[in-house]
Amino acid sequence: MTELRKAIVAGAGIGGLTAAIALQRAGWQVEVFEAAQTLRTGGTGLSVMANAMAALHSIGAHVPVEQAGQVIKQFYFKKQNGDPITHMPIHEIGEQLGHPSVNIQRPLLLRALAQQLAPDTLTTGLRCVGYASRPEGVQVSFEDGSTRQADLLIGADGLNSVIRQQMLGDTPTRPSGYIAWLAVAPFSHPVLTEGYVAHYWGRGKRFGLCDVGDGQAYWWGTCNHADAADAALSISKQEVLDAYRGWAPEVVAAIEATPEGAILKMHARDRDPVEQFCDGHVVLLGDAAHPMLPSLGQGAAQAIEDAVVLAQYLTQTPDLNAALAQYQAFRHPRANGVVKAARFMSGIEQAESKVACWLREWYFRLTPQSSFRKKNLDILLFKPSA
Ligand SMILES: Cc1cc2nc3c(=O)[nH]c(=O)nc-3n(C[C@H](O)[C@H](O)[C@H](O)COP(=O)(O)OP(=O)(O)OC[C@H]3O[C@@H](n4cnc5c(N)ncnc54)[C@H](O)[C@@H]3O)c2cc1C
Repeated sequence: MTELRKAIVAGAGIGGLTAAIALQRAGWQVEVFEAAQTLRTGGTGLSVMANAMAALHSIGAHVPVEQAGQVIKQFYFKKQNGDPITHMPIHEIGEQLGHPSVNIQRPLLLRALAQQLAPDTLTTGLRCVGYASRPEGVQVSFEDGSTRQADLLIGADGLNSVIRQQMLGDTPTRPSGYIAWLAVAPFSHPVLTEGYVAHYWGRGKRFGLCDVGDGQAYWWGTCNHADAADAALSISKQEVLDAYRGWAPEVVAAIEATPEGAILKMHARDRDPVEQFCDGHVVLLGDAAHPMLPSLGQGAAQAIEDAVVLAQYLTQTPDLNAALAQYQAFRHPRANGVVKAARFMSGIEQAESKVACWLREWYFRLTPQSSFRKKNLDILLFKPSA
């Protein structure tokens, strides 16, 4: 009997869990190590866009995610006072692609993925600290001094990945120039209909309001900050209310309805794209490989695409190094393209001057839906391995 190939996954985020599911379903033995004591339980939500749902569907992992979230039915772009600018035909795009986009609370997404793993796959509270390449595989080291051998190490350890650091050396993060507040809270409002998403655009500020189902809303706000990288991350609800004073009633009401303790504040960052995602028997995916700004709602989606495509190549190409090279060649143009597009979009969305904001509104108002649809289809279409 041939021995099962073994993979160690560093990081039980969205990318790491998806990779573990995909590889287990492809017949690999998989162990996932998460540095935190538990899977993330804190607030916030995200949109799992149609390309990610298609990728999850291709490994049979989509149903629990769809059940735990809320299918997006409308996607509006609005002025800060709530007046409409345009909308993305998200539902029609979903129907065309055969997969919806879904809003979901992050902890529920992680749970929906983790519940699909074989028992005893996940070890929490154990940080991976590095690796040593061996001709026949890789030895992975942990902070408790233990080591484990595997055929493959997947670095899915996020923005500050130690696996990336060892593989690529210093590749500094790049501050976006804005800070972000995020929260999930029980909230109802006549504007917040089932499957509602709206992005409200102001000068140097944005606000997103999303129905994540079960009477909960996910909201986020971004605000230009001269020293965004150094801005203090202490939370004050008053600071958020001050930032959005005079905005659409539902924006102010959503903040007011949120307990201060449920609000997170963070610096948004990405990194300049690199073309190397693998080294010997070690491979990067998700934010460890290509962190991006949140403007297109694609960071987790690209992590999911990475995970599924990686498992596909490892299944169809018996030689591991060849499979990783194929993964890298196929994924870096796509994921890095999205990094650049998110950076570009972020510049437009965080525009601050009166003229730039006027031009932005004018452009989006006049862009025909057909062209809007085509642009979005390019990103929302999941292409499996070649
Ligand atoms: C404000 C904001 C809004 C966003 N909205 C969206 C959205 O709507 N849609 C979308 O697709 N994306 C969105 N994103 C991006 C998305 O959150 C990330 O791209 C996604 O979480 C990346 O997944 P990941 O698995 O690669 O990394 P992570 O989610 O960061 O997971 C990494 C995991 O590894 C663990 N870890 C770290 N170091 C180690 C170690 N040394 N050993 C073991 N474990 C370790 C961490 O604890 C964590 O659990 C958003 C991001 C931000 C900042």
